[in-house]
Amino acid sequence: MSNKIRVIVSGAGGRMGKEVVKLVLQDEELELAAAVDRSTMDIDAGRLVGMEDSGIIVTSDLEAALAGSNGDVVVDFTTPQSAYTNTALAIKYGVRPVIGTTGFTPEQILELDKQCKDQGIGGLIAPNFSIGAILLMKFAAQASKYFPHLEIIEYHGDQKLDAPSGTAIKTAEMISEVREELRQGNPKEEETIEGARGGYYNGFRIHSVRLPGVFAQEEVIFGGFGQSLKIRHDSYERAGYMPGVKMGIQKVMGYTGLIYGFEHFIE
Ligand code: NAD
Repeated sequence: MSNKIRVIVSGAGGRMGKEVVKLVLQDEELELAAAVDRSTMDIDAGRLVGMEDSGIIVTSDLEAALAGSNGDVVVDFTTPQSAYTNTALAIKYGVRPVIGTTGFTPEQILELDKQCKDQGIGGLIAPNFSIGAILLMKFAAQASKYFPHLEIIEYHGDQKLDAPSGTAIKTAEMISEVREELRQGNPKEEETIEGARGGYYNGFRIHSVRLPGVFAQEEVIFGGFGQSLKIRHDSYERAGYMPGVKMGIQKVMGYTGLIYGFEHFIE
């Protein structure tokens, strides 16, 4: 019997889902159990991602896939509207959820944790699977103890709707947990153009750059006497999330309950 981890990909036809299908088909420790997408179906999952036929046809019914494909883990990159239902359904069938979809409330996370514990399975919800971005947050938080004067600059494509990015907010939160209380800059500072100094968060500023051609970048700049320190992460494509997704798939096999946030896996 194969000891590969059997993975169901939910949202297989989406931008992230296709990367997950490629990951699973290319990785010797993983096996594609099923592929589900509500708007891309009846096509071989391998062909969908430009690879050889895999023998797994994409279907539209997640519940049937959970019930009938003997999956160990479901990886979901769909939409905030379906994320909770899909996760609860996976847990009901004893299939460990690894969820990249955003949009869970704290109450939903608590409820899903309880469901995972009742079923005796592990689960993961990770709003950011990029190991580099998580390391940036951790390093920035550490540096802020010694360099409490800092600014965050994040760069994304010009069609992004929200600003600042979720990653920048998470970075700011992690910094604020350890940085001393400090309102930076000149208290008499005035903006002659509104927004010139960026968004205010707990004493420091966050700037959002939006340009075509940019995928996702973030830097934290620390200023001290006679020196500065920059910590920067550049993301070029969605494939960059896949080492994190693979780590998540492997980790959920080994614990019980729901973990929220990939940073808990990075020491
Ligand atoms: P996308 O729109 O390209 O893909 C979503 C896919 O899900 C579509 O093919 C759609 O048909 C399918 N889908 C929607 N609802 C479904 C359902 N109920 N059942 C089955 N299939 C369904 O989106 P994307 O860019 O791949 O992003 C998907 C999600 O992942 C978003 O919430 C996004 O914010 C998030 N995301 C997370 C990370 C991370 O690191 N955690 C990284 C990038 C994107």
